[in-house]
Amino acid sequence: MAEINRAVKGTNDILPGLSEKYAYLESKMFETASLYGFREIRVPTFEHTEVFVKNVGDTTDIVQKEMYTFLDKGGRSITLRPELTAGTVRSVIEHGLVNGALPLKVCYLGGCYRYEKPQAGRLREFHQFGVECFGAASPAADAEIISLAKQILCEIGIKNIALYINSIGCSECRKEYSKALKEYFRANIDSLCDTCKDRLERNPMRILDCKNPDCAKIAAGAPVVIDYLCDDCREHFEGVKAHLNAAGVDFTVNPKIVRGLDYYTRTVFEFVSNDIGAQSTVCGGGRYDGLVKSMGGPDVPALGFAMGMERLVLTLQNTGADLPEADRCDLFIATLGEKAAMKATSLCAALRADGFEAGVDICGRGLKAQMKYADKIGALYTIVLGDNEIDSGKAKIKDMETGIETEINLDNLSDSLMELKLNSAYAENE
Ligand code: ATP
Ligand code: MG
Repeated sequence: MAEINRAVKGTNDILPGLSEKYAYLESKMFETASLYGFREIRVPTFEHTEVFVKNVGDTTDIVQKEMYTFLDKGGRSITLRPELTAGTVRSVIEHGLVNGALPLKVCYLGGCYRYEKPQAGRLREFHQFGVECFGAASPAADAEIISLAKQILCEIGIKNIALYINSIGCSECRKEYSKALKEYFRANIDSLCDTCKDRLERNPMRILDCKNPDCAKIAAGAPVVIDYLCDDCREHFEGVKAHLNAAGVDFTVNPKIVRGLDYYTRTVFEFVSNDIGAQSTVCGGGRYDGLVKSMGGPDVPALGFAMGMERLVLTLQNTGADLPEADRCDLFIATLGEKAAMKATSLCAALRADGFEAGVDICGRGLKAQMKYADKIGALYTIVLGDNEIDSGKAKIKDMETGIETEINLDNLSDSLMELKLNSAYAENE
């Protein structure tokens, strides 16, 4: 197939059959987040490039290698969002939400764009569900959003998941740590990739999450930030662990987690699935206390997480989790002749108004082809409507699975259909 007739590399079509599963997961996520007081926010798909350069960080992989950036016709530099935190922060400052009642709790769902090497669980357009909480500095807040992430993952049926937490401290503790890191990496500079050689002086912590295998090997032996925490940050981290224990959330401290974005402070965490291959981090998040102020807002602490929808779906599919199937047509009315077609149109209108999925021929096909179609779409019941049925006001409704036919009155079709569906559900549960 010619390339222009295929979806762009790294993008996926979510087709009927799969889209219902996404919709189900998404509604579960919003539902669970609302139990914790989070309300949906919808922000634009693109922002001024500066929003991401300044906030995700100009030494991160995202900004250095992965952004979709272009000039619009007005000469502005625009970037498709690689994540939703920066745009959300821009929005809550612009609309003064962070000046209102705190904590402010918002959640979102949306497409993200990163120019990465596509593979299973790693796309160039993917979708994130996430939450952001503004104005809460206490360790209870960290534990609350981690608990929410955990509850969402449980609700949607993710099993076999590990939670790793770490603290990367504040700018104060990071001064000392940065010195130690520079010293360590300077001694190994020849083995670093060119991007990391450049990062060494500007932001040595970024070397720790470089995906280059040589850099990763050296990074494995580097000093860990948790050994450099100031008293306040250490106390905060102890508080987070205590609150997680109180919430009944199991965790493992992993001093190697630093997260790939510059805005994090103190708590960082990841949920890792044991049921998918290399791209196993399904959710990542943490605290970003300085970000709102640095973006021109008030000095309010903040924290959040984001989970990748595609990786979650992959995990659920790999574990054979129970995900909803597409709804099936309740009743397909096949017709013989013009009069019957007209009657079927009015019957279908009434059925749909009563909440049934009803179908009728709209292609002008013969009866045999209509029945073949009803079979293909998996219609639960069918009726054949001709002059006789219209004259008598009665028709036979056929259960397509059992083949059993029942005579019903056309003038209370919805009631009959409801009764048949209930009986069949009852029989199934027997
Ligand atoms: P990774 O280390 O796997 O590149 P990340 O640290 O870049 O992940 P975040 O920026 O924290 O990821 O994004 C949060 C979540 O979004 C990830 O845990 C993952 O589930 C998902 N995600 C990130 N990048 C992609 C991608 N390219 N394709 C699909 N999902 C992604
Ligand atoms: Mg990444």
